[in-house]
Amino acid sequence: MILGIDLGGTRIKAGVLTEEGKLRDSFIVPTQADEGAEKVLKNLSEIIERAKEKQSIKAIGLAVASPLDPETGVLYNPPNLPFGTFNIKEYLEASCKLPVVIENDANAFVLGEWWKGAGRGSKVLLGITLGTGIGGGLIVDGDIWHGAHGIGGEFGHITIQKDGPLCNCGRRGCFEAMASSKFLAETYQRLCMTQETLTPKEIYEKAIKGDTRAIEAFNILARNIAVGLSSLCNALDPDTVLIGGGLANAGMLLLEQVRMHFDPLLLPGIRGKVKLTLAQLKDTAAVFGVAYKAIKAMGR
Ligand SMILES: [Zn+2]
Repeated sequence: MILGIDLGGTRIKAGVLTEEGKLRDSFIVPTQADEGAEKVLKNLSEIIERAKEKQSIKAIGLAVASPLDPETGVLYNPPNLPFGTFNIKEYLEASCKLPVVIENDANAFVLGEWWKGAGRGSKVLLGITLGTGIGGGLIVDGDIWHGAHGIGGEFGHITIQKDGPLCNCGRRGCFEAMASSKFLAETYQRLCMTQETLTPKEIYEKAIKGDTRAIEAFNILARNIAVGLSSLCNALDPDTVLIGGGLANAGMLLLEQVRMHFDPLLLPGIRGKVKLTLAQLKDTAAVFGVAYKAIKAMGR
Protein backbone atom coordinates (compact mmCIF):
# COMPACT_ATOMS: atom_id res chain seq x y z
CA MET A 1 0.00 0.00 0.00
CA ILE A 2 1.07 3.54 -0.76
CA LEU A 3 -0.06 6.65 1.09
CA GLY A 4 -0.66 9.66 -1.15
CA ILE A 5 -1.04 13.02 0.60
CA ASP A 6 -2.06 16.37 -0.86
CA LEU A 7 -0.95 19.19 1.46
CA GLY A 8 -2.86 22.34 0.57
CA GLY A 9 -3.22 25.70 2.32
CA THR A 10 -6.69 24.76 3.66
CA ARG A 11 -6.93 20.99 3.77
CA ILE A 12 -4.74 17.89 3.91
CA LYS A 13 -6.22 15.13 1.77
CA ALA A 14 -4.81 11.62 1.87
CA GLY A 15 -5.56 8.28 0.28
CA VAL A 16 -4.24 4.75 0.78
CA LEU A 17 -3.82 3.13 -2.62
CA THR A 18 -2.78 -0.25 -3.93
CA GLU A 19 -0.02 -0.36 -6.55
CA GLU A 20 -2.75 -0.83 -9.16
CA GLY A 21 -4.38 2.41 -8.06
CA LYS A 22 -7.34 1.10 -6.07
CA LEU A 23 -8.30 3.52 -3.31
CA ARG A 24 -8.58 1.55 -0.04
CA ASP A 25 -8.99 4.35 2.47
CA SER A 26 -9.08 8.13 2.57
CA PHE A 27 -8.62 10.86 5.14
CA ILE A 28 -9.14 14.60 5.19
CA VAL A 29 -8.22 17.08 7.92
CA PRO A 30 -7.84 20.87 8.06
CA THR A 31 -4.26 22.10 7.48
CA GLN A 32 -4.52 24.83 10.15
CA ALA A 33 -1.79 26.80 8.39
CA ASP A 34 -2.52 29.91 10.48
CA GLU A 35 -1.42 28.00 13.61
CA GLY A 36 2.14 27.63 12.37
CA ALA A 37 4.53 25.05 10.94
CA GLU A 38 4.59 22.80 14.00
CA LYS A 39 0.81 22.39 13.95
CA VAL A 40 0.77 21.60 10.22
CA LEU A 41 3.50 18.98 10.67
CA LYS A 42 1.60 17.49 13.63
CA ASN A 43 -1.57 17.19 11.49
CA LEU A 44 0.47 15.60 8.72
CA SER A 45 2.11 13.11 11.12
CA GLU A 46 -1.27 12.19 12.62
CA ILE A 47 -2.66 11.32 9.18
CA ILE A 48 0.40 9.15 8.50
CA GLU A 49 0.06 7.36 11.86
CA ARG A 50 -3.67 6.74 11.27
CA ALA A 51 -2.92 5.23 7.85
CA LYS A 52 -0.07 3.10 9.23
CA GLU A 53 -2.29 1.71 12.00
CA LYS A 54 -4.86 0.51 9.47
CA GLN A 55 -2.69 -0.53 6.53
CA SER A 56 0.79 -1.76 5.72
CA ILE A 57 2.26 1.37 4.11
CA LYS A 58 5.46 0.93 2.06
CA ALA A 59 6.04 4.50 0.90
CA ILE A 60 4.59 8.00 1.03
CA GLY A 61 3.98 10.44 -1.78
CA LEU A 62 3.45 14.04 -0.71
CA ALA A 63 2.06 16.72 -3.02
CA VAL A 64 2.57 20.26 -1.73
CA ALA A 65 1.14 23.59 -2.90
CA SER A 66 4.61 25.09 -3.07
CA PRO A 67 7.60 25.76 -5.28
CA LEU A 68 9.96 22.91 -4.40
CA ASP A 69 12.90 20.78 -5.41
CA PRO A 70 11.50 17.30 -6.09
CA GLU A 71 14.97 15.71 -5.80
CA THR A 72 16.07 17.10 -2.44
CA GLY A 73 12.59 17.67 -0.99
CA VAL A 74 13.10 21.33 -0.10
CA LEU A 75 10.07 23.65 -0.13
CA TYR A 76 10.72 27.28 -1.11
CA ASN A 77 8.47 29.79 0.68
CA PRO A 78 5.02 28.33 -0.10
CA PRO A 79 2.54 31.24 -0.35
CA ASN A 80 -0.20 29.58 1.75
CA LEU A 81 1.76 27.37 4.13
CA PRO A 82 3.83 28.49 7.16
CA PHE A 83 7.16 27.15 5.89
CA GLY A 84 10.05 29.21 4.64
CA THR A 85 12.80 27.13 3.07
CA PHE A 86 12.23 23.72 4.61
CA ASN A 87 13.20 20.14 3.76
CA ILE A 88 9.88 18.37 4.32
CA LYS A 89 11.09 15.12 2.75
CA GLU A 90 13.96 14.74 5.24
CA TYR A 91 11.68 15.67 8.11
CA LEU A 92 9.02 13.09 7.23
CA GLU A 93 11.47 10.30 6.40
CA ALA A 94 13.09 10.76 9.82
CA SER A 95 9.80 10.96 11.71
CA CYS A 96 7.79 8.21 9.98
CA LYS A 97 10.65 5.86 8.93
CA LEU A 98 9.33 5.41 5.39
CA PRO A 99 10.62 6.54 1.98
CA VAL A 100 8.97 9.82 0.92
CA VAL A 101 8.74 11.39 -2.54
CA ILE A 102 7.49 14.93 -2.94
CA GLU A 103 5.99 16.81 -5.84
CA ASN A 104 4.35 20.13 -6.59
CA ASP A 105 0.55 19.77 -6.32
CA ALA A 106 -0.22 20.92 -9.88
CA ASN A 107 2.29 18.46 -11.37
CA ALA A 108 0.85 15.72 -9.15
CA PHE A 109 -2.68 16.62 -10.31
CA VAL A 110 -1.75 16.17 -13.99
CA LEU A 111 0.17 12.94 -13.27
CA GLY A 112 -2.85 11.57 -11.38
CA GLU A 113 -5.13 12.38 -14.32
CA TRP A 114 -2.60 10.68 -16.64
CA TRP A 115 -2.59 7.54 -14.46
CA LYS A 116 -6.27 7.13 -13.59
CA GLY A 117 -8.25 10.06 -14.98
CA ALA A 118 -9.02 11.97 -18.18
CA GLY A 119 -5.42 11.74 -19.45
CA ARG A 120 -5.15 7.94 -19.56
CA GLY A 121 -3.23 6.71 -22.60
CA SER A 122 -1.86 10.16 -23.43
CA LYS A 123 1.74 10.41 -24.69
CA VAL A 124 2.08 14.15 -24.11
CA LEU A 125 -0.44 15.49 -21.61
CA LEU A 126 -0.78 19.15 -20.70
CA GLY A 127 -2.98 20.05 -17.75
CA ILE A 128 -3.97 23.27 -16.02
CA THR A 129 -5.87 23.99 -12.84
CA LEU A 130 -8.03 27.09 -13.01
CA GLY A 131 -8.98 28.77 -9.76
CA THR A 132 -7.64 31.73 -7.80
CA GLY A 133 -4.43 31.06 -9.74
CA ILE A 134 -3.39 28.82 -12.62
CA GLY A 135 -1.28 25.76 -11.92
CA GLY A 136 -0.09 23.41 -14.60
CA GLY A 137 1.94 20.41 -15.53
CA LEU A 138 3.26 18.53 -18.52
CA ILE A 139 3.56 14.74 -18.59
CA VAL A 140 5.73 13.18 -21.29
CA ASP A 141 5.65 9.37 -21.58
CA GLY A 142 4.45 9.11 -17.98
CA ASP A 143 7.09 11.43 -16.51
CA ILE A 144 6.63 14.95 -15.18
CA TRP A 145 8.52 17.61 -17.13
CA HIS A 146 10.41 19.58 -14.46
CA GLY A 147 12.61 21.71 -16.73
CA ALA A 148 16.19 22.65 -15.96
CA HIS A 149 15.42 24.59 -12.74
CA GLY A 150 12.34 22.76 -11.48
CA ILE A 151 9.70 25.26 -12.59
CA GLY A 152 8.65 23.43 -15.77
CA GLY A 153 4.88 23.58 -16.14
CA GLU A 154 4.33 27.03 -14.56
CA PHE A 155 1.88 27.77 -17.34
CA GLY A 156 0.06 30.46 -15.35
CA HIS A 157 2.84 32.94 -16.05
CA ILE A 158 3.12 32.94 -19.83
CA THR A 159 2.29 36.45 -21.05
CA ILE A 160 -1.12 36.77 -22.69
CA GLN A 161 -1.23 40.56 -22.91
CA LYS A 162 1.77 42.85 -22.66
CA ASP A 163 0.95 45.57 -20.07
CA GLY A 164 -2.18 43.65 -19.06
CA PRO A 165 -3.49 43.37 -15.47
CA LEU A 166 -1.00 42.91 -12.62
CA CYS A 167 -0.28 39.29 -11.72
CA ASN A 168 0.48 37.74 -8.29
CA CYS A 169 4.05 37.21 -9.55
CA GLY A 170 4.57 40.96 -9.97
CA ARG A 171 4.56 40.91 -13.78
CA ARG A 172 1.74 42.05 -16.04
CA GLY A 173 -0.66 40.30 -18.38
CA CYS A 174 0.10 36.73 -17.26
CA PHE A 175 -2.28 33.91 -18.18
CA GLU A 176 -3.10 33.69 -14.44
CA ALA A 177 -4.05 37.37 -14.24
CA MET A 178 -6.40 37.01 -17.21
CA ALA A 179 -8.08 33.67 -16.63
CA SER A 180 -8.60 33.31 -12.87
CA SER A 181 -11.76 33.33 -10.77
CA LYS A 182 -10.89 36.94 -9.80
CA PHE A 183 -10.71 37.90 -13.47
CA LEU A 184 -14.15 36.35 -14.08
CA ALA A 185 -15.65 38.24 -11.12
CA GLU A 186 -14.09 41.56 -12.24
CA THR A 187 -15.21 41.05 -15.84
CA TYR A 188 -18.79 40.44 -14.72
CA GLN A 189 -18.60 43.52 -12.46
CA ARG A 190 -17.38 45.64 -15.35
CA LEU A 191 -20.09 44.38 -17.73
CA CYS A 192 -22.81 45.07 -15.15
CA MET A 193 -21.23 48.37 -14.06
CA THR A 194 -21.68 47.34 -10.42
CA GLN A 195 -19.51 47.24 -7.29
CA GLU A 196 -21.05 43.96 -6.14
CA THR A 197 -18.62 41.02 -6.28
CA LEU A 198 -20.12 37.65 -7.18
CA THR A 199 -18.45 34.27 -6.78
CA PRO A 200 -17.73 32.17 -9.91
CA LYS A 201 -20.54 29.83 -8.79
CA GLU A 202 -23.04 32.72 -8.63
CA ILE A 203 -21.98 33.98 -12.06
CA TYR A 204 -22.26 30.44 -13.39
CA GLU A 205 -25.79 30.10 -12.02
CA LYS A 206 -26.78 33.37 -13.68
CA ALA A 207 -25.28 32.22 -16.98
CA ILE A 208 -27.21 28.94 -16.85
CA LYS A 209 -30.43 30.94 -16.34
CA GLY A 210 -29.65 32.98 -19.48
CA ASP A 211 -28.19 36.20 -17.98
CA THR A 212 -26.45 37.62 -21.06
CA ARG A 213 -23.76 39.49 -19.09
CA ALA A 214 -22.86 36.36 -17.15
CA ILE A 215 -22.63 34.42 -20.42
CA GLU A 216 -20.47 37.19 -21.89
CA ALA A 217 -18.17 37.16 -18.82
CA PHE A 218 -17.67 33.41 -19.28
CA ASN A 219 -17.08 33.96 -22.98
CA ILE A 220 -14.32 36.53 -22.33
CA LEU A 221 -12.76 34.16 -19.78
CA ALA A 222 -13.00 31.26 -22.24
CA ARG A 223 -11.33 33.30 -24.99
CA ASN A 224 -8.38 34.09 -22.70
CA ILE A 225 -8.11 30.44 -21.65
CA ALA A 226 -8.09 29.48 -25.34
CA VAL A 227 -5.36 32.04 -26.11
CA GLY A 228 -3.17 30.69 -23.31
CA LEU A 229 -3.78 27.03 -24.05
CA SER A 230 -3.34 27.36 -27.82
CA SER A 231 0.02 29.15 -27.35
CA LEU A 232 1.16 26.33 -25.09
CA CYS A 233 -0.07 23.72 -27.59
CA ASN A 234 1.66 25.41 -30.53
CA ALA A 235 4.93 25.24 -28.59
CA LEU A 236 4.61 21.86 -26.86
CA ASP A 237 2.35 19.78 -29.16
CA PRO A 238 0.41 17.71 -26.59
CA ASP A 239 -2.15 15.12 -27.72
CA THR A 240 -4.43 15.92 -24.76
CA VAL A 241 -5.15 19.08 -22.78
CA LEU A 242 -7.15 18.91 -19.60
CA ILE A 243 -8.71 21.58 -17.47
CA GLY A 244 -9.24 21.14 -13.73
CA GLY A 245 -9.54 23.33 -10.64
CA GLY A 246 -12.46 25.27 -9.19
CA LEU A 247 -13.45 27.06 -12.40
CA ALA A 248 -13.70 23.70 -14.18
CA ASN A 249 -16.86 23.19 -12.11
CA ALA A 250 -18.53 25.35 -14.77
CA GLY A 251 -18.09 22.16 -16.81
CA MET A 252 -19.52 22.04 -20.31
CA LEU A 253 -20.51 25.73 -20.29
CA LEU A 254 -16.85 26.68 -20.06
CA LEU A 255 -15.43 23.80 -22.08
CA GLU A 256 -17.68 24.42 -25.11
CA GLN A 257 -16.78 28.12 -25.16
CA VAL A 258 -13.04 27.39 -24.83
CA ARG A 259 -13.30 24.81 -27.65
CA MET A 260 -14.94 27.36 -29.96
CA HIS A 261 -11.99 29.78 -29.60
CA PHE A 262 -9.23 27.20 -29.16
CA ASP A 263 -9.07 25.26 -32.41
CA PRO A 264 -8.77 28.23 -34.83
CA LEU A 265 -5.77 29.48 -32.78
CA LEU A 266 -3.81 26.27 -33.28
CA LEU A 267 -1.19 25.87 -35.99
CA PRO A 268 -2.58 23.98 -39.03
CA GLY A 269 -0.45 20.92 -38.24
CA ILE A 270 -2.27 20.26 -34.97
CA ARG A 271 -5.67 21.86 -35.65
CA GLY A 272 -8.45 19.39 -34.85
CA LYS A 273 -5.94 16.94 -33.37
CA VAL A 274 -5.64 18.11 -29.76
CA LYS A 275 -8.18 16.58 -27.38
CA LEU A 276 -9.50 19.22 -24.98
CA THR A 277 -11.24 17.80 -21.95
CA LEU A 278 -12.19 18.33 -18.30
CA ALA A 279 -10.30 16.62 -15.48
CA GLN A 280 -12.08 13.60 -14.01
CA LEU A 281 -10.60 12.89 -10.59
CA LYS A 282 -11.47 16.28 -9.10
CA ASP A 283 -10.19 16.53 -5.52
CA THR A 284 -8.20 13.28 -5.53
CA ALA A 285 -6.05 13.76 -8.65
CA ALA A 286 -2.94 14.99 -6.78
CA VAL A 287 -3.22 12.14 -4.26
CA PHE A 288 -3.27 9.63 -7.12
CA GLY A 289 -0.45 11.39 -8.97
CA VAL A 290 1.95 11.56 -6.08
CA ALA A 291 1.14 7.98 -5.05
CA TYR A 292 2.00 6.91 -8.61
CA LYS A 293 5.31 8.75 -8.35
CA ALA A 294 6.06 6.93 -5.06
CA ILE A 295 5.23 3.57 -6.67
CA LYS A 296 7.57 4.31 -9.57
CA ALA A 297 10.34 5.42 -7.22
CA MET A 298 10.05 2.14 -5.29
CA GLY A 299 10.48 0.18 -8.51
CA ARG A 300 13.79 1.86 -9.31
ZN1 LIG B 1 2.42 35.97 -13.32
